[in-house]
Amino acid sequence: MKPLDNKRPGRAVDQLESWGRYPRVPARLFRPERMRDFHAGEGPSLARGLGRSYGDAALLTDGDVVLSERLDRCLEFNPETGVLRAEAGLSLDALIRAFVPQGWFVPVTPGTAFCTLGGCVAANVHGKNHHRDGSFRQGVTSLEMLTADGSVRDLTPADGDDFEFAFGGMGLTGMIREVELQLRPITTSMMMVRHSVAGNLPELMAQMDDEARDDQYSVAWVDLLARGERAGRGVLMTGHHAEINELPMRYAAHPETLLTDRPGRARPFPFEAPTWLLSPGNLRLFNSMYHKWQGRKGTFFTPLRTFFHPLDAIRNWNRMYGKPGFVQYQFVVPFESGREAVTEAISRLNAAQASSFLAVLKRMGASDGGPLSFPMPGYTLALDIPLREGVIDLLNNLDALVADHGGRVYLAKDSALRPDTFRRMYPEWERFVIHKRQVDPDGRWQSDLARRLELV
Ligand SMILES: Cc1cc2nc3c(=O)[nH]c(=O)nc-3n(C[C@H](O)[C@H](O)[C@H](O)COP(=O)(O)OP(=O)(O)OC[C@H]3O[C@@H](n4cnc5c(N)ncnc54)[C@H](O)[C@@H]3O)c2cc1C
Repeated sequence: MKPLDNKRPGRAVDQLESWGRYPRVPARLFRPERMRDFHAGEGPSLARGLGRSYGDAALLTDGDVVLSERLDRCLEFNPETGVLRAEAGLSLDALIRAFVPQGWFVPVTPGTAFCTLGGCVAANVHGKNHHRDGSFRQGVTSLEMLTADGSVRDLTPADGDDFEFAFGGMGLTGMIREVELQLRPITTSMMMVRHSVAGNLPELMAQMDDEARDDQYSVAWVDLLARGERAGRGVLMTGHHAEINELPMRYAAHPETLLTDRPGRARPFPFEAPTWLLSPGNLRLFNSMYHKWQGRKGTFFTPLRTFFHPLDAIRNWNRMYGKPGFVQYQFVVPFESGREAVTEAISRLNAAQASSFLAVLKRMGASDGGPLSFPMPGYTLALDIPLREGVIDLLNNLDALVADHGGRVYLAKDSALRPDTFRRMYPEWERFVIHKRQVDPDGRWQSDLARRLELV
């Protein structure tokens, strides 16, 4: 193996954490300035983007963690076709800033723009348009990857598993150095959005399944704390990129602003929140107000940043959960028994008083990417759970429910899954392990997630 020859020595940190702030582990950090310095370490190594995965996917206890954040150059762009080639550390935020004013948007975006192209490939992220457009894999035409033996490979779909397994591979098949992406043309930076209120879960799911209400992007906020007849009430939020002729006259009067990116200035979350702030009583009150407020909006126009990345407006909002941190739990269950599974999961969360106001439900479309890629056709529910005693047991209990229904949890958000349940959820796990042994026989790429799930 080649040693890590980055000129700056690795910086040892005691408590490296990702977005959920749990777990926290010691590691050595490397932050190369140029791609040619982007090597693996001598021992176990892991590439890391902006640490927006929630659990331990981007952590490696006592290992070499290579940060890609300075490797963020746009390398080539074809304004005729919208094909962009960039270094893997380019964030979606920077991409949107640069390309929205030119009339191009990312084909798929998760709920934050503060993530890198490499992280989006490794987790094969999905967005509000998954039911129509699939996951990040669909927009990627080629990758450049640093392999375990130190060689650099250009990979395209013609390379079969070597290409596909990177999607959802959680950095375990190699370090992605460059990504080639087909951007989506847009004529304005505004979204046309419709909010519809649903009084309970069956009503909300019926609205989601109703093709007449569907749009290019669709997601629902669910009030997990409502009880009785209102259990699972929510707001279905659908939308599409507004065309010029859909916009009110006041926009058309200023054509120079039609493609303005309006990222806003992120305000910091001011303090580590005390636990009483998130008490069930306070959350219930907040949810009630939110349900009314969002439901009243009807049809309206909003800047794309507000539609796709509302949480990015508050920097470090993860501090809201206080010092112990939180877990984000996301699962998908097939449509056949999806309603039953989602209803049961919500009732178990409610009984454990374990959910927060951030809960979203959506329909997913076809699977793609490698064997560890998360998306599959079905309903997906994602929610934050503040960390406290008993939460990991609760998650393991929910994991069993999800696996019994033929579903799976999202590895980019996980920190609790056990290897036996993981294998039930990802039945093709063995194909992944065989491939990994072929491309990385010495187990150079590792993560705490991979160790926990016995993938290395
Ligand atoms: C507010 C918020 C909303 C989110 N919404 C969604 C959503 O809607 N849909 C969704 O799918 N996800 C969502 N996520 C999760 C997030 O999009 C993914 O975890 C994404 O992978 C984070 O990218 P990152 O660059 O921060 O990667 P990191 O968190 O740093 O790393 C994630 C994984 O990618 C690997 N990786 C990173 N860079 C490379 C590289 N160059 N080469 C190889 N492997 C690499 C890491 O090893 C790790 O396994 C959300 C996260 C947040 C905080």
